[in-house]
Amino acid sequence: MATIRIKQQYCKGCMLCIPLCPSKALVVSKTLNNYGIYPVMFKENGKCNGCKGCAIICPDVAIEILKG
Ligand code: SF4
Ligand code: SF4
Repeated sequence: MATIRIKQQYCKGCMLCIPLCPSKALVVSKTLNNYGIYPVMFKENGKCNGCKGCAIICPDVAIEILKG
């Protein structure tokens, strides 16, 4: 299992990453970021397989894969 970090202040809410995740581990936060956007967050108890798809597709480089 891998760990990711989402830099929520960089997320513009394009939602490209959410349907891409094979583990359905990405959801929209209920808290606005500094730009007034509801950013993506990692789901509580979500499982990341480290495929890196979300990090690669993100146009704003808001997702980092830490392990996996
Ligand atoms: S690395 Fe893959 S499995 Fe992990 S959150 Fe991103 S898209 Fe989902
Ligand atoms: S692809 Fe990047 S900018 Fe778009 S919603 Fe996902 S984290 Fe945010």
